[in-house]
Amino acid sequence: MEFAEIIGHEKEIRMIMEYFHTGRLPHALLFVGPPGIGKKTIAIKLARYLLCRKKIGNDNCLSCKKIEKGAHPDFLMIGGGGEALGIETIRWVCQETQRSPYLESRRVVIIDEAHLLTLEAANALLKTLEEPKEYNLFILVTSEEGEIPLTVRSRCVKIPFSPIKLELIKNYLIEKHGLDENKAEVVSNLSFGSLNVALFWANKENFLMRKKLAECLLGTKRSAVEITFFSEKISRNESEMYLYFLICLFRDMFVYSVTKEMSRVYNKDLLNILRQRVMEPTLIREKIELIIKTLSLLKYNVNRWTLFENLLISLADGI
Ligand SMILES: [Zn+2]
Repeated sequence: MEFAEIIGHEKEIRMIMEYFHTGRLPHALLFVGPPGIGKKTIAIKLARYLLCRKKIGNDNCLSCKKIEKGAHPDFLMIGGGGEALGIETIRWVCQETQRSPYLESRRVVIIDEAHLLTLEAANALLKTLEEPKEYNLFILVTSEEGEIPLTVRSRCVKIPFSPIKLELIKNYLIEKHGLDENKAEVVSNLSFGSLNVALFWANKENFLMRKKLAECLLGTKRSAVEITFFSEKISRNESEMYLYFLICLFRDMFVYSVTKEMSRVYNKDLLNILRQRVMEPTLIREKIELIIKTLSLLKYNVNRWTLFENLLISLADGI
């Protein structure tokens, strides 16, 4: 299988291929792991490999060409837009999967963000999983396993995905994206083992914005206008990226205030900013808890602007 563009996950890929090569590939797999670490990418690669007529997965066979164009009748992919997956979509999937595949001997169905299946949809899917057809392979992808009904989960073979090792991400950023060693180290530290997160911070503009945010909260020229600007910006998109960064930033403050060791700091390029503020470790911990609480509120229908403005004011305190 062609997995050249994927970094890490050798163990997970080996596990799947062993099922395949020994003829024990289950009819439903559940890919579980933190967001943005490559679960969906591997699911798509697996689908391409299984449907490929030459068992290569990225050649020019009819099957590969059709997948490339998003027009393969035996490859269904639903979910992934952050929206609930309702009964209508699943009913359609269930109907389709009752029929034999059109072009190949097998059909692959990927359900991304499977935790967003409504209860009704999950129950409909369960019926299909309980009466599996030998030509169907379902791959459910999720970062929140617990949100999927146990009845559905128990019908799938779980493949747990671990975060990617930071060293691998760092080398990837240097080799494939031309980052210098120092920036690659900072970015990989911010990634939490997710390539998506790493690529977000590798972007020049985002990387700069992160520094400005740190200055706004911890620098000497803190201002209410800046706080409002960042609250608006963060609330528009990529909220989670910024909140995870803030956890890292205050984690650094904590580590540096306790150990005074620069080598333990993740945001090494922000050390001068970190040094400008002195805070009691207990206060820093309270701030980290506040960020984590804000992160957990994101799944509810809250006014994000107000949420972030309150958070940033609390983090900056003293404005
Ligand atoms: Zn092919």
